[in-house]
Amino acid sequence: MSNKATLDAILSLSKRKGFVFQSSEIYGGLNGCWDYGPLGVELMRNIKDAWWKSMTYRRDIVGLDASILMHPRTWEASGHIQQFSDPMIDNKTSKARYRADNLIEEHIERLIKKNKTGDAATITARLAAAESNEDLHSIIIDAEIKDPVSGTTDWTEVRNFNLMFKTFVGPTDDSSNAVFLRPETAQGIFVNFKNVMESARMKPPFGIAQIGKSFRNEINTKNFLFRVREFEQMEMQFFVKPGEEQEWYEYWRQERWNWFLQMGIKAESLQRKPHQKMAHYATAAEDIEYAFPFGWGEIEGIHSRTDFDLNKHQEFSGKKLEYVDTATKDRFTPYVIETAAGATRTFMALLCDAYSEEEVANADGGSETRTVLRFKPELAPTTVAVFPLVNKDGMPEFAEKLFDDLRKEFRTEYDTSGAIGRRYRRQDEVGTPFCVTIDGESLSDSTVTIRYRDSMEQERVNIDALVSLIHRRLKP
Ligand code: ATP
Repeated sequence: MSNKATLDAILSLSKRKGFVFQSSEIYGGLNGCWDYGPLGVELMRNIKDAWWKSMTYRRDIVGLDASILMHPRTWEASGHIQQFSDPMIDNKTSKARYRADNLIEEHIERLIKKNKTGDAATITARLAAAESNEDLHSIIIDAEIKDPVSGTTDWTEVRNFNLMFKTFVGPTDDSSNAVFLRPETAQGIFVNFKNVMESARMKPPFGIAQIGKSFRNEINTKNFLFRVREFEQMEMQFFVKPGEEQEWYEYWRQERWNWFLQMGIKAESLQRKPHQKMAHYATAAEDIEYAFPFGWGEIEGIHSRTDFDLNKHQEFSGKKLEYVDTATKDRFTPYVIETAAGATRTFMALLCDAYSEEEVANADGGSETRTVLRFKPELAPTTVAVFPLVNKDGMPEFAEKLFDDLRKEFRTEYDTSGAIGRRYRRQDEVGTPFCVTIDGESLSDSTVTIRYRDSMEQERVNIDALVSLIHRRLKP
């Protein structure tokens, strides 16, 4: 068995099987936007449900669903208007636009491949020390980095490019009506801190969890779902008493790491990356990274953010965002531990991690390649597939009745076309953990064959035992 999850293999399977399609494909597509097909929506829902359960089926976290459009002052308070930008540079010949830091990082990688480790180390040190757009520009000019498209070094200055999408409320495109599509879900939680705390009668330490769409006008969208312009986040802000933040930061680092393992991701595909450079208000920050086919990439960030966000919103709104203990009269602005995961990147990580190709014996005595998505059974988009062995002798009627019964409990598919072996392969490719075949005997003794995706083992079971057997196997 081998994990051959190249980006091409994942892309092709996604489209062929209906996990993910390019957005507005018939019009040539829209960069950085993707649509989830019938299997993709199921997988995505299962991921979000698993996260939601792990976060909110506990006594100290409650949920929220804030709107995507928020009062524009939110983004002034959070610093997004001033700082949520990437340094970009344009090539005057090709008109191609790049993130200046990415251009330099890619150049460093090329130098390392060519064994020019001395040059790579010098540029790496300059990049780490760079504090301004001018510094980035000098590195690009000094290193004579060429535009991959035109091959020239004909560069503009480095300028900041704000990543927020702007739109207007009401009928006039007037700057006083400008609002932004949220670039993160977190601010919806901060501005509702008091509403939630009071209505749900929570007191620190407690958390607010939210799943929702976020939008970033990324300069370079790339690597399929990894860097897109519209994506889903699963964020949780945990409010604690000042002084208790380190202990809770450690707790959430561990919890979130364990969650990815519980989702079935292999430990060797994950790594922790503590932040070297941190925002001035943060006291600790770490990313959880996944080994994507193109290299390591962040799937979640865990940040200890002090009282920065609540303080900023107090300052800009003039409203107190404190916790007051009615008995002791103790009052404080809570410190925040944030867990910020991408549902979209988790989706892609799970697809890559589950993908495997293996050589198996076929019916002719030879061998063939079996592609399998080894999802954890409860995450699989389809749980059970039902097949009549042949389309006659009462088998289809019996199988359809079973299909109707199973559909009340599980996401179930029905397939009548081709040899049984082919039908198994089809389900393996989309990760269905259980296939049930109805044959001639089933009609007389009410037994069916259940076949397991990973071991390919088959078992004969009574039809009455099927639902409980599958439920048992779905338990984590
Ligand atoms: P990056 O450095 O890769 O741009 P980030 O540090 O800006 O990511 P955060 O602001 O911490 O990301 O957002 C939290 C999570 O949201 C990320 O771990 C990632 O899973 C997801 N995310 C952020 N930007 C994107 C994007 N453009 N496309 C898909 N997912 C994203």
